[in-house]
Amino acid sequence: MAETPFKAEIERVQKEYSEKMTPGAIATIPGSSVINKTGSWRVFMPEFYKDKCVRCYLCYIYCPEPAIYLDEENYPVFDYDYCKGCGICANECPTDAIIMVRETK
Ligand code: SF4
Ligand code: SF4
Repeated sequence: MAETPFKAEIERVQKEYSEKMTPGAIATIPGSSVINKTGSWRVFMPEFYKDKCVRCYLCYIYCPEPAIYLDEENYPVFDYDYCKGCGICANECPTDAIIMVRETK
């Protein structure tokens, strides 16, 4: 396999900056994201219309947080403590059972 161009230069810069920069954004406690309620960042929130839902789970699969879990009947339930309002669930929903609305809080 061919050598990456500028490999030595990249390594030199990485070494130089890793020595200069103070560490940041390091998760020192495993699972600490649970206490970081990312829902407070939200501008839009998903509104769910159960009568339109066909339980395809696409919203559940695509939610990047995850902020969607399934109830005992396998309908999606939104966890607004962690939902960032990205709108992916609404975008993927084939029946428009999820509509993004402006956050009111
Ligand atoms: S808006 Fe984004 S973060 Fe919130 S439930 Fe939908 S996919 Fe998940
Ligand atoms: S993507 Fe839409 S239809 Fe499918 S489970 Fe989610 S809300 Fe229901």
